[in-house]
Amino acid sequence: MTSPRAEAGCGPLGLLGGTFDPIHLGHLRLAEEAREALTLDGVRLIPAGEPPHRAAPSSTAADRLAMARLAIAGNPRFEVDDGEVRASRKSYTVLTLERLRAELGADRPLVLILGADAFEGLPGWHRWQALFDLAHIAVANRPGYAPHGRRWPAVLSAELDAACRDRHSTDPADLRAAPAGRVIAFDMTPLAISASHIRDLIGAGTSPRYLLPDSVLDYIDLHHLYR
Ligand code: ATP
Repeated sequence: MTSPRAEAGCGPLGLLGGTFDPIHLGHLRLAEEAREALTLDGVRLIPAGEPPHRAAPSSTAADRLAMARLAIAGNPRFEVDDGEVRASRKSYTVLTLERLRAELGADRPLVLILGADAFEGLPGWHRWQALFDLAHIAVANRPGYAPHGRRWPAVLSAELDAACRDRHSTDPADLRAAPAGRVIAFDMTPLAISASHIRDLIGAGTSPRYLLPDSVLDYIDLHHLYR
């Protein structure tokens, strides 16, 4: 279930999926800077229940969902979608986008927000070519994946390049003109923060404070996660 506020408009709605194990400031800045740069109505964060492309998460889906909710508390432009956590199947993005299309209608522009690392892995995703029919894709730089000065689309594999060649846009207005199908890159403040680094810090008994919201760190401490 989601709160209705970011749903209220009919402009583009951002979608940020992730394992969020745990959610951190890289995720939140990605969502915030996408919202501003692309003039999105809001952003739905969608924690994966069973992420298909990686090892099982270190914390439960219920914990990751709870941490995501804590992280966005008080921000009326963000909301958390628990659909992937509640579904008892692998969290394929194409299935989530089909669900959201059915929920939000054929005309609402949807914008799938991806860090550069996730975007580069797109050809490995289930029915990845169908994603372009369901949503626009917005790609942000991420330290280590699209090094400064080496700008997208120079980072694309031949397969991804072929799929994106006629979809490339540099104008956020294009995202309002159609419900899906464009690919746009945007810059965000480079933040070399990752969930795996945070898990490593906690596992080593060192502090991850200020890499993630205090409310999320308090939850981690209370529930003894990542030790
Ligand atoms: P892990 O370290 O466990 O692999 P992660 O920090 O990469 O996790 P995910 O939940 O896998 O987090 O990422 C969800 C989405 O957020 C992906 O599209 C990813 O590219 C993006 N993302 C995560 N961290 C950043 C960051 N620091 N800057 C930009 N994008 C990010």
